[in-house]
Amino acid sequence: MRPGKEINATSAAPGIATAPVLHHRFAGEFIPTLTIEEAGVEAECDRFEAACRRAADAMRVLKVKLESQIAADAAGAAGIYDAHIALVTDPNLLRDVRDLIGSDRINAEVALQRVVARYEKAFRSIDNAPVRERAADIRDVGRQVLAMLLQREQEVFHRKGSDYILAVDEFLPSDVGLIDIEHVRGIAMGEGGRYSHGVILAKGLGIPCVVGLASGLMKIPAGSVVILDGDRGRLVIDPNEQQLKRYGELLREREQADLRLFEVRLSPSITKDETPVELLANIEGLRELGAIEEGMFDGVGLFRTEFAFMERLMFPSEEEQLKLYTEVVQGMRGRRVTFRTLDVGGDKPLAYFRTPNEHNPVLGWRGIRLTLHWRDLFYTQMRALARASAHGPVSILLPMVTTLDEVREGREILDKVVTDLRDEGVEIGDDLRYGIMIEVPALAVVVQHVAEAVDFISIGSNDLVQYLLAVDRDNPRVAGMYDPYHPGVLRFLFDCVQVARQAGIPCSLCGEIAGESEFIPLLLGMGYRSLSMAPVFLPSVKLAVRSAEIAACEALWESVKSLGDGNAVREVLRGNAKQP
Ligand code: PEP
Ligand code: MG
Repeated sequence: MRPGKEINATSAAPGIATAPVLHHRFAGEFIPTLTIEEAGVEAECDRFEAACRRAADAMRVLKVKLESQIAADAAGAAGIYDAHIALVTDPNLLRDVRDLIGSDRINAEVALQRVVARYEKAFRSIDNAPVRERAADIRDVGRQVLAMLLQREQEVFHRKGSDYILAVDEFLPSDVGLIDIEHVRGIAMGEGGRYSHGVILAKGLGIPCVVGLASGLMKIPAGSVVILDGDRGRLVIDPNEQQLKRYGELLREREQADLRLFEVRLSPSITKDETPVELLANIEGLRELGAIEEGMFDGVGLFRTEFAFMERLMFPSEEEQLKLYTEVVQGMRGRRVTFRTLDVGGDKPLAYFRTPNEHNPVLGWRGIRLTLHWRDLFYTQMRALARASAHGPVSILLPMVTTLDEVREGREILDKVVTDLRDEGVEIGDDLRYGIMIEVPALAVVVQHVAEAVDFISIGSNDLVQYLLAVDRDNPRVAGMYDPYHPGVLRFLFDCVQVARQAGIPCSLCGEIAGESEFIPLLLGMGYRSLSMAPVFLPSVKLAVRSAEIAACEALWESVKSLGDGNAVREVLRGNAKQP
């Protein structure tokens, strides 16, 4: 490859690093199929279970190592190993491998490989990137149990105590135990996705990372110096003087911007004219919570419970859910957690819960439509949530609501849950709130009518925008048309918050735009005072809030609300940002 060549990739974990590259290729295992005599089946199953136990022990050791070696923000990411430990001790995995050893009389290694391949296939077939990438977790867990069965030491990736950029097909959580954390400066992956657990860990460890290089990765000469740009998703091979200078400048700019965000992250979230703006976090699991410092946010505005359901091999029981929800509530130490009930179907199917094929799944049987049908699931989840409220303030949020009947039915079920639990003498909190997401445009128009049945609403702008613009949010062919700055969308967002205010319903916004700092002045100008976003955006949104003045935001909103398209709006915003 000629010197100074730049290769595009997908940016996955932020940061810029320069170091020599170290390749590692994980060779697929070929394991012969052995026949097990009937008398030996039990012993083979025991050998498999012992390997699972040893793998779980190794994961626990890795988790402790990671927590103790790395700063606080990686501690949450270390929770990924809890998910792996849950997988390796999952009774379904143990049962499926045992059954296969018994029925086909094959060795544990081969039975494990076949079961793992089956699970992986189920996850891969799901049309949702974050969930699809859970297939990598299954593969990783399978690889570790296999190593235990084969009693094999795993190779360690290091450059004898000097810095390096790791180039691998994919980076799995167990690989953290094999890298030289002190010296790995960046990770370039051939495969893997932005949502993979390997990437989450790299982010937690502050290691810049790019993914999706495919076969290009193997063309990088071993040992050559590489600039890895995790911000822009780029690799520069054997950089020339000019490239080194340019990246040196970018790095300095980045450090200054980071410093500013670092300084502001724990300051109060108030505008220049001292209007408080509530900043909440959107989270998918317990592990992210550990990564957010307390002063950065006011509570959890959206806990997407479906991810806890998706990472498993079967429905979690009431007790299992209670354990998770309680840990989250306790972790928040008195600040509110808003749990959204199961939002599966559409783009988020559950591997173990087959729903019929639909022509338009996003317009189909999803969210509350599905859980109101499967009452036992809904009731079980509501019970677990109500019980968790004994440990701190909890709100329950219903997804994809379309009609007032659904709003009322949800409330009736919650009331019944509360009555049943009280009759059983089970403790529940006295500040359990009930709310709905506004994602369906028609419900937004009549939002004043939900006031009698709900304690709050939360605007789900991700889906709301897709339904307003008739643009699939997950279809790359129309991605350019998915434009939250479209004035038609903006007027809708304005009406929602104003009508909610007049009806006296607390209203928050939890779609991705809440995390976009350029959008913040517009949202403040419309009247939003509560925003929920991915934790990574909390510092930049706080900076945007602290730099804003409500009167100026209102004037900005006035100046864009009658424009004709998103580009015109963006132009005004750019001009506004340039003003001193
Ligand atoms: C939304 O639709 O805006 C939302 C927050 O929910 P999700 O992204 O999970 O669909
Ligand atoms: Mg949604």
